[in-house]
Amino acid sequence: MAGQTEIRPERHRVVVIGSGFGGLFGAKGLARADVDVTLIAKTTHHLFQPLLYQVATGILSEGSIAPPTREVLANQKNAKTLLGEVIDIDLEAKQITSEVLGRRTVTAYDSLLVAAGATQSYFGNDHFADHAPGMKSIDDALELRGRIFGAFEMAELGASRGDNVDHLLTFVVVGAGPTGVEMAGQIAELAHRTLKHDFRAINSREARVVLVDAAPQVLPPFGAKLGEKTKRELEKLGVEVVLGAMVTEVDERGLTIAFKDGRTERINSVAKIWAAGVQASSLSKTLSEQTGAPLDRAGRISVNPDLTLPGHPEVFVVGDMINLDKLPGVAQVAIQGAKYAAKEIDGRLKGKAPQQPFKYFDKGSMAIISRFSAVAMVGKLRLTGLIAWLMWLFVHLIYITGFKGRVSALLHWSISFLGRGRSERTTTEQQIFARAALKRLEGGAADLVSEPGEYDRERLEAERRAELEAQAAEEARLTDANERGTSVR
Ligand SMILES: Cc1cc2nc3c(=O)[nH]c(=O)nc-3n(C[C@H](O)[C@H](O)[C@H](O)COP(=O)(O)OP(=O)(O)OC[C@H]3O[C@@H](n4cnc5c(N)ncnc54)[C@H](O)[C@@H]3O)c2cc1C
Repeated sequence: MAGQTEIRPERHRVVVIGSGFGGLFGAKGLARADVDVTLIAKTTHHLFQPLLYQVATGILSEGSIAPPTREVLANQKNAKTLLGEVIDIDLEAKQITSEVLGRRTVTAYDSLLVAAGATQSYFGNDHFADHAPGMKSIDDALELRGRIFGAFEMAELGASRGDNVDHLLTFVVVGAGPTGVEMAGQIAELAHRTLKHDFRAINSREARVVLVDAAPQVLPPFGAKLGEKTKRELEKLGVEVVLGAMVTEVDERGLTIAFKDGRTERINSVAKIWAAGVQASSLSKTLSEQTGAPLDRAGRISVNPDLTLPGHPEVFVVGDMINLDKLPGVAQVAIQGAKYAAKEIDGRLKGKAPQQPFKYFDKGSMAIISRFSAVAMVGKLRLTGLIAWLMWLFVHLIYITGFKGRVSALLHWSISFLGRGRSERTTTEQQIFARAALKRLEGGAADLVSEPGEYDRERLEAERRAELEAQAAEEARLTDANERGTSVR
């Protein structure tokens, strides 16, 4: 009508928490929906966690498994990304509060998809983390890379002086699940193949790699037969597999393990890797408190069969955070759950009938033991050796996000698996010690930046400008007065 402005109703707002498998596939699943998507995550990248151990052992660069989320979603016009750690979810007000470096943001939603994943669990012994980092983030992988290669360097130094360096050349991996197996296999290959010509005072092939687990078998989810086969393969590589051993203490120079019969053993080792357990994001507790949905021992929240929360059909939770039908904490559960939730949100807006309850389609599991050797389970099929390894290669190439990541991974795999080299061996002191240093600041990294209110851009710019002008004037005066090179006494 003439003279009147059309009031366009606001589009349906979907907030996605997390940029891992669930978050990214959820956001992408809404690309064609008539919604505005805001993806909030505490890192600026998506992370292909299954390849973190290759970053830690110098095969891949962090960039090839962690593309910027902003870039991945750049062409999806209905999506924006927001950096921040979600510190509160208010289901009543339908608001998310996130924070980064002391700056808080409140984001409103109509539908919410929570995919905040899991963190490492030390089973109540959080102090173990100081000496045995887990393997959950790029920070973890780079710190471990620094610790592993650093241990060889320190051993070389010590051995040149005639010191005993056994504790530096002993690597202990705690947890014989897929991550622990892959990590132990790669450290053994590193010691026995990659580094064998690189040192003068030590023989890297004499390094001990110990894989410890409280369970009586390796890779329990793969069944007894594949577990036994994997154990034998690891032992052929030189890995000592110690089963039925629970870690009871971890300190800077080693760890203590205890057996069922009461025996205890001390293993002196500087570089220890924790791959033993996971704990769902603490956001599941926030959601549980507001909905009454129970949490299991790993902190995972029970969801309805359609992945929503009791009394909140607008809130979906997917991936490692959920407890539903004993689903495993694997990438496909998160991906398929997120696609299901995105389809449901879109369908509701289009007036479609609800979907059938979420049903997980198991595409199989695999773990790499060493180059050209892996184990895989696809349906009833059990594969080992080269065939399983080739399958692993193919599947991982498909799922690495982005063309650049795939090409980069393929190139690095050729260098490491066909050749002997590892092109990502760069480590820095900061990678190893920055986390401990940050912990000493009360407010973490936020202590290193100005308070949001204190940042006075105009004043700081004026001061900087005056400083630069004075510097330029002094430079010009020195030249004009021919005073350069003249000593002033
Ligand atoms: C080392 C390792 C190896 C693995 N290997 C395999 C494998 O071979 N095959 C397989 O299928 N699965 C594997 N997994 C498991 C698989 O990676 C997970 O099941 C999958 O990542 C779960 O997806 P998700 O979206 O639930 O969580 P994640 O992928 O962990 O994503 C969680 C996201 O939430 C963000 N986040 C967390 N808390 C907050 C917060 N408070 N505020 C904002 N953002 C937050 C994180 O930064 C991250 O972006 C492996 C996992 C690890 C750690």
